[in-house]
Amino acid sequence: MNLIIRIFSIVFVFAILISCDEKTTEQKAEKNPPNVILLIGDGMGLSQLSSAFYYGEMEPNFARFKEVGLINTSSAKHKITDSAAGATAFSCGEKTFNGGVGVNSDSVSIPNIVEILSDKNYNTGIISTSSVTHATPACFYAHVKSRGMQEQIAVQLTASDIDFFAGGGTKYFSKRTDSLDLINILNNNGFIINTDNKTELQSNSKYGFLLADGGMPTMLENRGDFLPEYTKLALEYFDQSDESFFLMVEGSQIEWAGHDMNADYLIAEVLDFDKTVGVAMDFAEKNKNTLVIVLADHETGGFTLAIDNGDYAEIKPEFATSGHSTTLIPVLAFGQGAEHFKGIYQNNEIFHKILAVVKNK
Ligand code: MG
Ligand code: ZN
Repeated sequence: MNLIIRIFSIVFVFAILISCDEKTTEQKAEKNPPNVILLIGDGMGLSQLSSAFYYGEMEPNFARFKEVGLINTSSAKHKITDSAAGATAFSCGEKTFNGGVGVNSDSVSIPNIVEILSDKNYNTGIISTSSVTHATPACFYAHVKSRGMQEQIAVQLTASDIDFFAGGGTKYFSKRTDSLDLINILNNNGFIINTDNKTELQSNSKYGFLLADGGMPTMLENRGDFLPEYTKLALEYFDQSDESFFLMVEGSQIEWAGHDMNADYLIAEVLDFDKTVGVAMDFAEKNKNTLVIVLADHETGGFTLAIDNGDYAEIKPEFATSGHSTTLIPVLAFGQGAEHFKGIYQNNEIFHKILAVVKNK
């Protein structure tokens, strides 16, 4: 075969492959409700978010959003929320008491968004830099009256609707006080569990990545690109399926850095989270039937970017508390239905707005 014919036939085959590929993506977008990627920067108030604009090497991915809102994060009984009540508001649509995971103010279990969307054939996932049983991710699959019940939360993960999870927390699955082997139970429930390297994922299996005993290492301890890379992996995994997906990604340690009142730690975690936001945005720009929401459960540290010794050229990051604060929290939204997230409203409205976007399609 002469070279020109050969090149033409290769180009022709590629053109067919590309056009087939586009068609399936378009068909999916046509018939399916939107994909939802919810990125929670735990403890990320406006100053934490702003730090990405002053300490990053490039313009942050946060700057790619056009729709911006503010939420009031107070819990049912307190002006200042904790992460459990904060995430329950997002995942279940109701404000609850501090410490409550997926339960209402009377400690009664209430349906979460993963359960609701799974009933609509969504595939679902959670990724965090804490243990996957920590308060924020737990609110997306568990129902317990206290966030401290992490062994029980782990048991609930094994029987949940989650299809993909990644983060730390191995000890709650395989080094338990009741000596149950939850890894075994997860395997029996159709999960492939990885405790080290990621592999090629197939859409007909469920996957769990448990990569640290407790929380993942900090960015200062060289966690590397765990959060952006596993977010990318999850998106590739979900993209293989014909169905829509819901993915919650948590930058858990922005909050831990706030409690530590450690600005270097905090800024490194915010930049890692922003990089992860970029992965979600790249996906949503290509796959138009996707809604991306970036927010926080509350602010931690009373963090501010202050002037240093009267010198307007220097920023001095400072903390007002080692605890949480109750400043309004920025909400950034992009893609399908993003306009619903403008305005100033209560944190539990996030849940209702997501479901409204899903139902409107
Ligand atoms: Mg958290
Ligand atoms: Zn906290």
